[in-house]
Amino acid sequence: MTDYPFATEVITEVDLKSRVVELGQAISNDYLDRSPLFVVVLTGSVLFAADLVRNVAADSEVDFLGLNRYGEGGRIGIAMDLAAPVFDRNVIIVEDIGDTGLTLKVLRRMMTDRGAASVSTAARFDKTRRRVTDVPIEYRGFEVGDEFLVGYGLDWQGVYRNLRSIWAVMDIEAFVRDPKVLSKQLHSG
Ligand code: 5GP
Ligand code: MG
Repeated sequence: MTDYPFATEVITEVDLKSRVVELGQAISNDYLDRSPLFVVVLTGSVLFAADLVRNVAADSEVDFLGLNRYGEGGRIGIAMDLAAPVFDRNVIIVEDIGDTGLTLKVLRRMMTDRGAASVSTAARFDKTRRRVTDVPIEYRGFEVGDEFLVGYGLDWQGVYRNLRSIWAVMDIEAFVRDPKVLSKQLHSG
């Protein structure tokens, strides 16, 4: 254990908190008289969604959607569907992070195909430079770089979703060798 740090904190808990208040205000203004249906994409977006909906003054509903990704091409399927009908609803897709944009593109089309009255997207983070398809993100938390991020819902092999702030992986090979390497860094004092 010599090459610290394996990851470095890039967005603090305080900055996450203040930004979500601003996003909530923007959504409140835009949706005051058309109660949105938040479509929360499992699992990474759950922490963001919990913070976001508490900062939205408009009446709203919350539902969850689980996705599967198949193979390198990343074909997207539904692992767990919404309980609520989307027809005629004003849908706000809640995503953890926009990367290539392919997931958001598929989700938007899915909501439109189901007859949503309107569709917009709230993403906690946005890797704008990695976009391969043009897709709007109406409510964007933070624009971030190319680094792999963990914390605040974002995982590495299922771990680190519970971290209160955002960390950028500096030594990806160390994470491949040992997924718990950041835990060890954090607890080494
Ligand atoms: P996209 O279809 O935009 O390429 O994929 C977005 C998905 O990739 C996100 O919902 C998230 O699950 C995953 N992802 C993209 N970048 C990161 C990252 O930096 N950290 C983590 N943990 N997941 C990411
Ligand atoms: Mg993931």
